[in-house]
Amino acid sequence: MSTRDRDSRRDFDRSPEPRGGAVRSASGDAPRFVIQKHDASTLHYDFRLEIGDVLKSWAVPKGPSTDPRDKRLAIPTEDHPLEYAEFEGVIPEDQYGGGTVMIWDRGTFRNITEKDGERQPLEAAWENGHLLVELRGEKLSGGYALHRTGSKQDANWLLIKVEDEAADARRNPVSSEPKSVESGRTIEQIAREEDGSDR
Ligand code: MN
Repeated sequence: MSTRDRDSRRDFDRSPEPRGGAVRSASGDAPRFVIQKHDASTLHYDFRLEIGDVLKSWAVPKGPSTDPRDKRLAIPTEDHPLEYAEFEGVIPEDQYGGGTVMIWDRGTFRNITEKDGERQPLEAAWENGHLLVELRGEKLSGGYALHRTGSKQDANWLLIKVEDEAADARRNPVSSEPKSVESGRTIEQIAREEDGSDR
């Protein structure tokens, strides 16, 4: 990447507030994603993308698939602060529904959304209800599409694997790779080890 590209990209990504060093990824300016397995009243996977200065979030009941034929329901949920991407543990009942949270996957992503033949900025793509991202995670990689199924802001979305080299109909990482990428623990271990502690 040339210096000029990097500078223009930095301008483009500039957020109103300085971001803490701990929150930034090791790979510089690339935005981050996290998928948190959340055992609340119902088990789901919270899919979060760094867009602007928040984590835009969706609850995916079945979790992400690596099979492009699967259309996984993704229910939009409230924006979370960037720092939340680091969280793994047990949360109180009055916070985001309580329950146990595991960092199931994380990494950086690239916006590959195009509109009328041009790259569309992430925030516009999110507003528009059509996002195409390329994930670089520990479990998931390659393209994923997020499509809003209605025109209203609270309409549901679908999360769909793009047909590419990382697509694999047989892999099913939600069941075959159930452990935390942060700690190697299962959700049961996190619940056991962190419940009733001093938090
Ligand atoms: Mn959740």
